[in-house]
Amino acid sequence: MQFIFMGPPGAGKGTQAQILAASWKIPHISTGDILRACVVAQTALGQKAQAYMDKGELVPDELLMDIVAERLKEPDAAAGWILDGFPRTVPQATFLDKLLHELSGKGAANTGLKAVNLDVPDDILVARLLSRGRKDDNEETIRRRLQVYREQTEPLISFYGDRHQLVAVDGDRAMAEVTAHLQQELAGS
Ligand code: ADP
Repeated sequence: MQFIFMGPPGAGKGTQAQILAASWKIPHISTGDILRACVVAQTALGQKAQAYMDKGELVPDELLMDIVAERLKEPDAAAGWILDGFPRTVPQATFLDKLLHELSGKGAANTGLKAVNLDVPDDILVARLLSRGRKDDNEETIRRRLQVYREQTEPLISFYGDRHQLVAVDGDRAMAEVTAHLQQELAGS
């Protein structure tokens, strides 16, 4: 069970990833959560990342790679995982391919990996994020994060689609309905 959860900010991927990871007893690995923990702890990486996060920009790829490589090598990740918020760019996806190949010895397209895209229209995303009220959830930053998503992360839909690893799910529905749909789509992976 190796799942990537993609989707614009506010699509509900964090919530769904948390519910499904608990139900399948695999770790939920959120790069946003890891980065926020580094910011709180004021580590060198956290200090570098914070400026980008506050502006709604992506943190440079090279800062994410070690984090993800170390986390996927932890023993609890051996049976599977849900990666939430990574990869977010094509270079990150290429890096993940190499890493999975290194860890499993299998080719990138043969690892059983599935990429879930949870999409929701922009006006609904903005309303959801404004009501959530995290530090980077002000209107200007939200607009920038959506733009960054459409420019840098959306290309991953065809990256995984071309390899027949994409599962597209409509996120503009009640939370429990989305969970049930994901459970059905991903069962047996
Ligand atoms: P969102 O709700 O916008 O999806 P996340 O909690 O996943 O937010 O991430 C928050 C911020 O952390 C992002 O706006 C970005 O600055 C940074 N971040 C998280 N994951 C990545 C990543 N894979 N690559 C670059 N930046 C990232």
